[in-house]
Amino acid sequence: MELSPLETKKYIHKALMDDNLRAAVDKATASSVTSRQVLVDQIPYWEHLRHKTHSIKQKVIENLDSYLQQFESAAKENGIHVHWAGDAEEARQIILDLAKKNNVRHVVKSKSLTTEEIRLNPFLQENGIEALETDLGEYIVQLMGQIPSHLIIPAMHLSRKDVGKLFHEKLGVEYTEDPPKLLRIARARLREKFLSADMGITGANFAIAESGSIAIIENESNIHHTISLPKIHVAVMGIEKLIPSLTELPYFLKLLPVSATSQKASTYVNIVGEASREKHGEGPKEVHFILLDNGRSKILRDPQLRETLFCIRCGACLNTCPIYQQIGGHAYGWVYMGPIGITLIPQYLGESVGKYSPFLSSLCGSCYKVCPMRINIPHHLLKLRNKVVEKKKSLLVERVAMNIFSMLAQHPKLYRFATWFPGKLQMLLPKEQAFPAPGYTRERALGHFDSKGFRKRFYEMEGENGKSAI
Ligand code: SF4
Repeated sequence: MELSPLETKKYIHKALMDDNLRAAVDKATASSVTSRQVLVDQIPYWEHLRHKTHSIKQKVIENLDSYLQQFESAAKENGIHVHWAGDAEEARQIILDLAKKNNVRHVVKSKSLTTEEIRLNPFLQENGIEALETDLGEYIVQLMGQIPSHLIIPAMHLSRKDVGKLFHEKLGVEYTEDPPKLLRIARARLREKFLSADMGITGANFAIAESGSIAIIENESNIHHTISLPKIHVAVMGIEKLIPSLTELPYFLKLLPVSATSQKASTYVNIVGEASREKHGEGPKEVHFILLDNGRSKILRDPQLRETLFCIRCGACLNTCPIYQQIGGHAYGWVYMGPIGITLIPQYLGESVGKYSPFLSSLCGSCYKVCPMRINIPHHLLKLRNKVVEKKKSLLVERVAMNIFSMLAQHPKLYRFATWFPGKLQMLLPKEQAFPAPGYTRERALGHFDSKGFRKRFYEMEGENGKSAI
């Protein structure tokens, strides 16, 4: 599935026309928002936790160079191979070289947005290596030839019926939409693959600088199989994933499941700190950590926007976002979607490619309110919008409109005429008919212009005080 943020308007239009998608996303986000809030209300120190993790991450991000060095030396001491990848191409090549060196033909993967970011699956396939997703949601979207539409729930845009139909068509099984049966079908196929895979590829939720280990959180146990059955384990992680030590980990383990899946605790927390096969007779023979930059150090240079690197990919901001709730994840055109996605797209891909992204927000602030890391997304969106405008990447029609507004705002008589005129035009239309605005009113109503206009109403309400106020 090839997507581009430049095509976002086309995708949004398509999503808004897709009743199935809208129903599935609406149902899933509504239930996530409610169940998360029920749990948050049971944790009296929730706000304290948010402040605590924010300050931990701030300290790490502001001293990332030294934490990375500490992590690298500790991991190497544990016998883990550490690789640095400046960009996606370098990361893909490191994995391919490892695969070739070890005659790898079959790879099992656990859900990792970082490997989606570097487009690993199509690359491995082009090189004759089968890469199979083992997280159930990710397995479903892979079978569909799609990418995840949510940071945590990859197949959020699909209904049970869609999945039943997909399994029937692609796996040749009898049609069913019964979740336990669908689960059994997927499990039976995945189990064989775990046993025959030569390499397991995962992401990492947290990289622990002091111990040189990583923590990966899950509910399905597919990650546990991915890191323990194949002879080689490769973990691909962004350089921002660091936390100082195991002492800080519990704060994040408390926040993440509540925000991500409305659980008090995740079912499994895997800590990978060594290649254990020789020592314990099980687990991988080799462990490789790939530390990916791919634009992160550029983000780090901006003292304000670097806060977007605090993200722990919980997906809570997506669920609460009124835009995401309408259009789902694919409409954003990249692997990171929703409120945090639209801050990352222009930063990772540049303002030319991401010129529409920061505008896909109502700036209602709900994302900031729920974000466990207290990332002030609306604040960052304003800065990113400003950058798009400064680089003259905004739409011509917007630039013309803003120039006209600027001219009107400097000439009060013209301004008065311009705000009086639409009200008079509206009077010529039938009573119930909204003012026509080509394009804008295709998916929403513009409302009615008031025949009196703002100034007149204001004077009426405020009397003489109003006149002196304007
Ligand atoms: S920005 Fe905050 S709420 Fe959104 S995914 Fe990241 S950590 Fe979660």
